[in-house]
Amino acid sequence: MLLEAIARHARQTPARPAYQNRTQTLTYGELWRSASVLAARLRAGTGPVLICGEKEAGMPVCFLACLMAGRPWLPVDPQQPQERLLKIRSQADPAEVLCCGSHAAAAALRAVQAEPLFCKSEALAPAQFAADPGRDAYWMFTSGSTGAPKGVRIPLSALENFVEWMCGLPAVAACGTGVSVNQARFSFDLSVADLWPAFAMGGTVRALEPAEQADLPALYEALGSSGARRLVCTPSFARLCLCDTAFCRTLLPDLETVFFCGETLAPRTVKTLEKRFGGLHILNAYGPTEAACAVCAVEVQGREGPLPVGCAENAASRLLILDEGGAPLPDGAPGEIAIAGPSVGSGYIGGEAGGFGTLSGQKLYRTGDQGVLRDGLLWHLGRRDRQIKYKGYRIEPGEVEAAILGWDEARAAAVLPIRAGDEVRGLAAVVEWETAPLDLSECKARLRRTLPDYMLPRRWRAMERMPVNERGKCDLAALERMLKDE
Ligand code: AMP
Repeated sequence: MLLEAIARHARQTPARPAYQNRTQTLTYGELWRSASVLAARLRAGTGPVLICGEKEAGMPVCFLACLMAGRPWLPVDPQQPQERLLKIRSQADPAEVLCCGSHAAAAALRAVQAEPLFCKSEALAPAQFAADPGRDAYWMFTSGSTGAPKGVRIPLSALENFVEWMCGLPAVAACGTGVSVNQARFSFDLSVADLWPAFAMGGTVRALEPAEQADLPALYEALGSSGARRLVCTPSFARLCLCDTAFCRTLLPDLETVFFCGETLAPRTVKTLEKRFGGLHILNAYGPTEAACAVCAVEVQGREGPLPVGCAENAASRLLILDEGGAPLPDGAPGEIAIAGPSVGSGYIGGEAGGFGTLSGQKLYRTGDQGVLRDGLLWHLGRRDRQIKYKGYRIEPGEVEAAILGWDEARAAAVLPIRAGDEVRGLAAVVEWETAPLDLSECKARLRRTLPDYMLPRRWRAMERMPVNERGKCDLAALERMLKDE
């Protein structure tokens, strides 16, 4: 269905732009042709294809080629530390590693430059697609609580179910073949909500490059010239955009819909957006990487107070609230949010079960989120574990702690969020040292070798003895109180 839709656009409107970044434009004709050439090569192999790159026009070509060839793509961000990239590579064990653009990480990953593989004007083989919807479409790595990144497998059926669901949301469908702005890096699953629904509808994706996002004037310039009708982003990104009054209707006269997902959306953000952009549709969507990006959404413009994260009736899969024992709870009773149905992924690479299971023969994923369904709306009430969302990034404090505990000098470590109200403003590391505390700069330099920037604690605190709770475990609540009072 997804491939057929893109093939149709390539046939009927080959000159229409499918993908744009700051300097490149790729039409549907070029996207299809290049992906077909690459797919012909990829068909000779099996297993995942690791694809390293930022927002180069080659990235969607590689993804589409994998889709055509029936091989899962595994996008990785070249800005991640090499050690982390190598961990991902070793877990996924890809038969092919491709790189788009010029990145230092390519050599460490032993990647082959992708562009020369599809830029040749080879005659096109007749399009034949790997039809099995149960095969994996993509693999995506997220933070893992045990210290190593965790790889999620998403089948084609889940991706197609997601695309069909998202394209069916009236506020998304209204943008039709217009321009959709992509913020998320391709190594994060929010990017799935940019690319594939836009491609399915024959729209244009304007991908914001990391350098454009790091510089406010460049960002406004990119947005202003995009002609965007839809913006897909995290609430953190919207807050960044809103910090200057230039982010308003004059900058984006055609903006109709903002699709938020990935973290708590503050009512204040919605109010400011409404004030600056009259008539905007603001969708708050919810879902984890493990269930193909998002499973439900609800329009929240005009709402007061805490915001719902979705509507059960038009969700991409069934939403349930479970008790401790895994039994469904009635309307109004808080419990763990679970997702049952076609959105649910095939599991983790390596086979760890995590929250994956079944319910009456359907695939089930227990999210670890606390929530409640009330009158058909889903409300997110926080996490049941320690997972943190910071600037939209998913972080398991355990992964940062494991990195610190890998040092001979550290005896115990706890990593906690620094909060301002409901918002996470960064991470704090509390360390019980075996030796004299290491220099801050040394701590940061060591972590930088294995963790991405957003996972680096910005506050460090040495403790002679970690506080322990009544169960003899590190008392995280006491530490969080201590940090709050500082
Ligand atoms: P990720 O796998 O990075 O997409 O992160 C999934 C997690 O992000 C969920 O399990 C939630 O904890 C959180 N999340 C996603 N969407 C929302 C939302 N709309 N509001 C609050 N938290 C959200």
